[in-house]
Amino acid sequence: KPRIFSGIQPSGGLTLGNYLGALRRFAGFQGTGPETIYCVVDLHAITVWQDPAELTRRTRELAAAYLASGVDPEQSILFNQSQVPAHAELAWLFNCVARLGWMNRMTQFKDKAGKNSENVSLGLYAYPSLMAADILTYHATAVPVGEDQKQHVELTRDIAAKFNHDYGTEFFPAPEPLIEGSATRVMSLRDGSKKMSKSDPSDASRINLTDDADTITQKIRKARTDAEPLPATFEGLKDRPEARNLVNIYSALTDEPVNAVLGRFEGQGFGTFKPALAEVAVEVLAPITAKMTQFMADPAEIDRILGKGADRAHAIAHPIVERTKEIMGMIRSR
Ligand code: ATP
Ligand code: MG
Repeated sequence: KPRIFSGIQPSGGLTLGNYLGALRRFAGFQGTGPETIYCVVDLHAITVWQDPAELTRRTRELAAAYLASGVDPEQSILFNQSQVPAHAELAWLFNCVARLGWMNRMTQFKDKAGKNSENVSLGLYAYPSLMAADILTYHATAVPVGEDQKQHVELTRDIAAKFNHDYGTEFFPAPEPLIEGSATRVMSLRDGSKKMSKSDPSDASRINLTDDADTITQKIRKARTDAEPLPATFEGLKDRPEARNLVNIYSALTDEPVNAVLGRFEGQGFGTFKPALAEVAVEVLAPITAKMTQFMADPAEIDRILGKGADRAHAIAHPIVERTKEIMGMIRSR
C-alpha cells in the first residue's frame, strides 16, 4: 500500500519556507489513496540544544500548525516522533548500515556544523540515519519535502538498497522525494544565497507563521533586493537571487505561474512589488495563524491527538523494526 511520510522539527517557529515547501501540501494528499503519516520530529530537534519547556511548547505549536493547515487526525496519522520507539531503534540499525563517507557528503551537516564541527553533537552528524528510519519504519513510498531535504531522501534510498543487498532481501522499498511548485527552496530575506530557516539567528531573515500583518509587511519591506525593475520573464531573474526569491514566493502564495506574475509587474520596481507581496502573504497566512491560536488554546487536546496518533504509528512501525532485527539475525524470543 502506498504511504506518504513527512516530518518537521519543533526547532523554532515555523517559517513561510516550511509552509510553502512542505506543510501546505500535506492536507492535499489526504483522501487521494496513500496513507498519510505526519510527524513532529522532536528527536531531530534535539540534535541542537533545545530548552525543555520551549521544546514542549513548540511541539504543540507545530502540531497546531499541522491541524491549522488542514491535516485531519482521523484521515492522517499525526504524532510526535519520540512517542514511537521504532524511530530511534531503526536509526541505530541504520547507523550500522550507512557508511561514514556517505554522511561526510551531507550538505546540511556542513551548513549547520560550520567551521567548528568538533563541537556539534554526534546526533547532528547521524541525523540522516534517523531520517531514513522515520521513512522506512513505515515502508513509506513518497516523502513530500523542500529541495533542501532531497539529499537526505536519496541517502534513505541508499540505506534501503544497501540493507537489502547485504541481507539478501527486498524488505525496504525505495522512497521517492516529492518536491513540487515554485517554492521548493524559499531563500532568506536577508541573504539570497541562504535558505530561509526557522533556526536562523536573524528573525528578519524569515517570515514566521505566527507573525502579525504589520511584522510581515515590515519584514518584506526591509527584504534585501536590487534596484532594477522586474523583467518580463523568469529568465531575466537568473542573476538576481533576492528578486527571484520574492517573485517565487508571490507565485507560490497566489498559485500563479511565475511568468504570469511577471506579466503583471513587468517594468515595476520593488516599491510597488513589495507591498503587493506583503498583501498576499498576509491574506494567506492570517487565517492559518488564527486557527493555530485556536488549537493552541487547548494543549490537552493536542497532546491527546499526538498520543492517539503515536498508538496508530506504533502499530505500523513496531512490526517492521521487529522484522528488521529478525532479518539481521537477532533472537526475538518474547
Ligand atoms: P531548521 O533550521 O531547524 O533545520 P527548517 O526551517 O529547515 O528548520 P525543517 O524542520 O528542517 O525546517 O524542515 C521541515 C520541512 O520544511 C522540510 O520538508 C524542509 O525541506 C522544508 N523546508 C525548510 N526550509 C525550507 C525553505 N526555505 N523552503 C522550502 N522548504 C523548506
Ligand atoms: Mg532544516
